[in-house]
Amino acid sequence: MPTATLLFPPRPSGAALALGYLLAGLLPLALGYGQSVSAAHPWELAGAALGLMALVGMAVQFVTSGRFESASGRLGIDRIMAFHKLAAHWLAVAVVLHPLLYVVPTWMADPALGWMRLQFYLTAPDYRTGVVALAALLVLVVSSILRERLPMRYEGWRAVHVVLALVVVFGGLHHAVAVGRFSAQGPVETLWWVTGALVLAVMATLYGYRWWRLHHRPWRLAGITPLADRMWELDIQPRPGTPQPRYHAGQFVWMTEGNRRFPLFDHPFSIADSPERPGLSLIIKEAGDFTNQIGTLPPGRVIGIDGPYGEFTLESHDAQALLLIGGGVGIAPIIGLVRDMAARGDRRPVRVVYAAGHPQNFARLDELRAAESTLDMRLMPIAEQGAPGWQGEIGLLDRDRLQRLLTGLDPKTTVAMMCGPGPMVVKVSDTLLDLGLPTHNVIYERFDYGGGPTSRQDRARTWKMLAVGGVLAAAAAGFAAVG
Ligand SMILES: Cc1cc2nc3c(=O)[nH]c(=O)nc-3n(C[C@H](O)[C@H](O)[C@H](O)COP(=O)(O)OP(=O)(O)OC[C@H]3O[C@@H](n4cnc5c(N)ncnc54)[C@H](O)[C@@H]3O)c2cc1C
Repeated sequence: MPTATLLFPPRPSGAALALGYLLAGLLPLALGYGQSVSAAHPWELAGAALGLMALVGMAVQFVTSGRFESASGRLGIDRIMAFHKLAAHWLAVAVVLHPLLYVVPTWMADPALGWMRLQFYLTAPDYRTGVVALAALLVLVVSSILRERLPMRYEGWRAVHVVLALVVVFGGLHHAVAVGRFSAQGPVETLWWVTGALVLAVMATLYGYRWWRLHHRPWRLAGITPLADRMWELDIQPRPGTPQPRYHAGQFVWMTEGNRRFPLFDHPFSIADSPERPGLSLIIKEAGDFTNQIGTLPPGRVIGIDGPYGEFTLESHDAQALLLIGGGVGIAPIIGLVRDMAARGDRRPVRVVYAAGHPQNFARLDELRAAESTLDMRLMPIAEQGAPGWQGEIGLLDRDRLQRLLTGLDPKTTVAMMCGPGPMVVKVSDTLLDLGLPTHNVIYERFDYGGGPTSRQDRARTWKMLAVGGVLAAAAAGFAAVG
C-alpha cells in the first residue's frame, strides 16, 4: 500500500507549524531588541511590538490560504482555513491597537492632546501608507465575514480579497520602513525587504507559475454523466504531454475550464476516484454560477487541474476499520475511497453511510451496493424523506444508527472519515466522540469555508490557535516591559 510519505515529501505537523508561526512572529522583536531608538514609553513599545508582529503575520497569511501543500498539507483544508480566519481577526486587533497604544501615554497625561496626536497619525502624509494598510485590513476582514451577503460573485470577492491583502502587506511594509522606529535601518529593515520579496515570490508562484501550468499541462473532459438531481460525474483525462496525476484517493483538486484557466477562477472538487485508474473522476453538484453550467460542458473541453491537495486519505490515518460517511455531494470523496479500496483489494472492515435528502438524490448507489460483495463492507443509505419503493433507512444519522454501524468494531482503532453539510458533520463528529472514538480518529472535510456550527473538535482547535495568539500578545507585553 503506498503511504503519504512515499508519494509526497514529508510535511510539517500542526505543532511544528504553530512553533514556526510563533518564531516568525517573534523574529522582528528579537531583531529589534536592544536597537538604539529614541526613548519610548512602554505603551508605545507595546504598540510597536504589535505592529512588528502583525506585519510578519500578514505576510504569513499568503501561505496559510491552503494553496501550499508542502507547508500546510498535513493540517487538512478545514484546519487551514480556520487558522487563516482566526489569524486575520488577531491581526486586525493588533493593527487597530498599534496606533492607539502609541497615544495612550499622551492621552493619560492630557486626553485632548491624546486625540490630537491620534488625529495626526491618521492624517499626516508620512503615515498615509500605514493608514491605508489598516483600512484595507478592516475592509478585508469585514468583507470576508459578510461574503455570502455581498452582491458579488465568489470570483469577484476573491480578486478583491487578494488585492486588499497586497495593499495591507505592502502598505504596512512601506509604513514600517518609512516611519518605524525599529524598522528604519539594521536587521529589521532587512527583514522587511526579505518579507516583501517572499510575498512577491508567493504571488508569482500562485498566479504566474500555476497559471502557466494550467495552460501547459491541459486535461480534457472525456465524458460527463448525469447521476442524480443536478449532480454530474466528470471523467477527466490528461491530454498528451500532461503527466498522470499522483494522488491519494480522497484528496481534492482545483479545477478550471476552457479559456478561464486562471487560478482566480478555479474551484475545489474532491477526486471521486482511485489512483489505480487513469485520469480523474469528479462528482459535482450544481451550487452556483460555475457548477450550474457543468452539465452543459461539451466532451473534449479543455480542463485545468491544480493539485492534489488535502489530507482526507486512508494513508494519512492509521485504521484497523473504517466508518465512511458522506452527506449529499459529500459522497464524492467517499466514493473515491471505496473505489480505491476495491481497486487495491483492501480487506479492512468498512461501514459506509450515504445520507441524502430524498431517494432520488442518491448517486452511484448501485455501484456502492455492488462493492458490498467485493469488500468487507456494509452500506447504510439514509434518506431524510421516504418515497414509494425506498427500502433504505429514513431520517437522520443519529446516535442509534451510529451505534449499530459500529457494532463489531473497536471504536479505539476505527477511523471515521466524513464529508457533508456543516450541521451534519458537527453533530455526527460529537456523537462519535461520545461513542468512544478518539478525537484524532474522527476526520472530516467541509465543502464550505463559510463558517456555521462548530464541533467539539473545532472548538478545541480554536483554543489551541488562540493560545498561539496569547503567546504573541504576551511577547508584545514582555517587549514593552524590558525595552
Ligand atoms: C475541499 C473541497 C472539496 C469540494 N469538493 C466538492 C465535490 O467533490 N463536489 C462538489 O459538488 N462540490 C465540492 N466542493 C464545493 C464546491 O467547490 C463549490 O460548490 C463550488 O466551488 C461552488 O461554486 P459556484 O460558482 O458554482 O457557486 P457559488 O455560488 O459561486 O458558490 C457557492 C459557495 O461555494 C463556495 N465556493 C465557491 N467558489 C469557491 C472557490 N473557488 N473556492 C472555494 N469555495 C468556493 C463558497 O462558499 C460559496 O458561497 C468542495 C469544496 C471544498 C472546499
